[in-house]
Amino acid sequence: MSTPVGVPAPGELLRRLGARATATDDPVTHVERVAPSAGVTAPWPDWVPEPLRAGLARRGVVTPWRHQVTAANHAYEGRHVIVATGTASGKSLAYQLPTLAALLTDPRATALYLAPTKALAADQLRAVAELELDGVRPACYDGDTPRAEREWIRRHSRFVLTNPDMLHHGILPGHAHWSTFLRRLAFVVVDECHTYRGVFGSHVAHVLRRLRRQAARYGPSVAVAGPDDRSRPSAGTPVFVLASATSGDPAAAAERLTGLPVTAVTEDSSPRGGLTFALWEPPLLPPPVTGSTGGFDAEPDGGADDGRADDDGAGGAGDGRADEDGPEGVGQVRRSALRETADLLSDAVAAGVRTLAFVRSRRGAEVVATTARRQLDEAVPGLGDRVAAYRAGYLSEERRALERALLSGQLLGLASTNALELGVDLVGLDAVLICGYPGTRASLWQQAGRAGRSAREALAVLVARDDPLDTYLVHHPEALFGRPVEATVLDPNNPYVLGPQLCCAAAEAPLTPADLALFGEGAPAAVEALVAAGALRKRPTGWYWRHTGRPDVDLRGTGGTPVAVVESSTGRLLGTVDPGSSHFLVHPGAVYLHQGVSYVVDELDLADGCALVHAQEPDWSTHARDVTDLSVLSVRSRVDAGPVSLFLGEVDVTSQVVSYQRRRIATGEVIDTRPLDLPARELRTVAVWFTLTEASLAEAGITTAEVPGALHAAEHAAIGLLPLVATCDRWDIGGISTALHPDTGLPTVFVYDGHPGGAGFAERAYEAASSWLRATRAAIAECGCETGCPSCVQSPKCGNGNNPLEKAAAVRILDVVLANLPKEPK
Ligand SMILES: [Zn+2]
Ligand SMILES: [Zn+2]
Repeated sequence: MSTPVGVPAPGELLRRLGARATATDDPVTHVERVAPSAGVTAPWPDWVPEPLRAGLARRGVVTPWRHQVTAANHAYEGRHVIVATGTASGKSLAYQLPTLAALLTDPRATALYLAPTKALAADQLRAVAELELDGVRPACYDGDTPRAEREWIRRHSRFVLTNPDMLHHGILPGHAHWSTFLRRLAFVVVDECHTYRGVFGSHVAHVLRRLRRQAARYGPSVAVAGPDDRSRPSAGTPVFVLASATSGDPAAAAERLTGLPVTAVTEDSSPRGGLTFALWEPPLLPPPVTGSTGGFDAEPDGGADDGRADDDGAGGAGDGRADEDGPEGVGQVRRSALRETADLLSDAVAAGVRTLAFVRSRRGAEVVATTARRQLDEAVPGLGDRVAAYRAGYLSEERRALERALLSGQLLGLASTNALELGVDLVGLDAVLICGYPGTRASLWQQAGRAGRSAREALAVLVARDDPLDTYLVHHPEALFGRPVEATVLDPNNPYVLGPQLCCAAAEAPLTPADLALFGEGAPAAVEALVAAGALRKRPTGWYWRHTGRPDVDLRGTGGTPVAVVESSTGRLLGTVDPGSSHFLVHPGAVYLHQGVSYVVDELDLADGCALVHAQEPDWSTHARDVTDLSVLSVRSRVDAGPVSLFLGEVDVTSQVVSYQRRRIATGEVIDTRPLDLPARELRTVAVWFTLTEASLAEAGITTAEVPGALHAAEHAAIGLLPLVATCDRWDIGGISTALHPDTGLPTVFVYDGHPGGAGFAERAYEAASSWLRATRAAIAECGCETGCPSCVQSPKCGNGNNPLEKAAAVRILDVVLANLPKEPK
């Protein structure tokens, strides 16, 4: 790979990119410099068989890095290990070495590799197949595997690559077909394990426990042969090797995920070039012309087109209030982050810089690529051909062709959705543009890590979207740099995960008292509840699944079967929407976007779980309104601080989508509001909430009339800033605020997990309340707008049309809270 001639240094490129800055409006708010580091190698462990070493040498691996050897030694010696290092630090070698060594040394041993996506498993299969190791017979086993091949794989493959969904739906329920494989299971590799977070992560934690249970049932695991293997794992217990992006406290997260003691290897000894990391805030647009909302782009700025609108609906956790419709308050608006990213991509490509742009939605990625192509073609006809969009729907061959074209320099710009869809080898680029904060510092570094190769300087730019969190971050670089990345949050004790998973386990084989210990401290009570509910039956030999079919449990769903979106005229399935979002996104009359095509919903059939739509390109968008009630069931923990109290507890949230507005796309003008007849939905979950006394509000100069708007504004910004302290997305959480809540008797702001039973987010918010609310206050107070804008207190998913909102009074409310609330320990 040759360096394109005349590639500017990062500093020079940044200067050029920022050339559009005016004296008063420099888009670059901060530049962080990450120094280069030299790599540290280690000799090959002497237990690595010669064919494996030779295969790796053919692939260009001459000497391993020290962290690879450290992790591999732990695993080889039978200790469960997680390697949590940066992008492109060669984590795969850390698990390939011990796993493949075991398969070569013992001709009967087997290994299971889990990736969060089929694409990643396919990449790994290619990497392992290239090593040409005799007798290993690696194979992917997932939803795409032809029936005819499945039996061969079960019988003959010793390195099976799959994903947690297939393990859950296919392999574990059919464990008898896998008995030989499971009996001999020596290693389980869990790749990209930081993606197993929240409710999905909690489910995967139990799927891994079910796997351990079946391996133990069919065990003893084969004693992996070798002259000096006295420290091999005990019978029936495969060794877990986990690979993670850099994350906070990876050992604890891995222990929660696997239920086993895990050693962490976090020191990254691979070489790094220096990185210049710039924070970029798009400039404000000129004030709007009367009657127009002033420059809202018609294209969604980051709306996911998989049926889940970004910042909309919140997995059912709409932020609803009972107040009435009002005009959408739109004040100052910034240039769209998509447009800005497209401009930066054009400039970078014109300068001959190989650049990858990360955009949050597929449609957004298309917009960035299309805009950049057009701009480049206008400048130099044909230059646009060197930019492409990278779609999840592409076949892996097509994706690899694009990756190769980018690495070779034939393609100079690529706009893509998220890192996971990208091949593991797509690293070493000159620049990475990140359109919108990806939600966590861990993902930010993972994306930025695609730029830079040993001894080559690279550039990363975070382009802020017009929302509270992004705006806060580009003005508070200390919140991004020089502090550790987040820990991965998951909660296997969530009763809404534990109960269904125990049913799955019981359906696979009756549960014994000894099994319960495997599933955690909540398991005995959960089993009793399942017996009482008629799901399980207790017999002398254990607990039995009472029904004939298997339990219907979806690992990635947020409760219930997804709603299918179907084109009536053709019967074509366009996509699915999770049931929690369906009332918001596919109610009758809703405009539904799919891969850039617009559809209008004719009917939402809740009984059959489908929405019937027809293609139509209306010049309006639709915005659902809901009414939400919340009642407190129990308080788990509380802090009383003078006039302020902070709570963590269980709540019931009842929300009903009652109407929707139609708004002109071009102007934002409200055409009309139409009623809807949809049933209320209930969510039992975990919430964090704070109350203030009315006296303290009056003392802070907040009038009675301002209180609802002040609480509402504080609630919006608090929801926007929660991802700063918890690894959640804005749509994982919801909120409600009220000047007088019946259960507290006081002005109250609630923020709740949008998933049944909670996913650990409210708990994190409670633990980090002081830093969370301090950042929330700063985000509002420091915003340059007068009465509130999308960068501070307006929420794109407000079920109440962003009305009322009192920006200034919200700051005073948070001042009262922060003046009283103790800072959290640490
Ligand atoms: Zn603002
Ligand atoms: Zn709201």
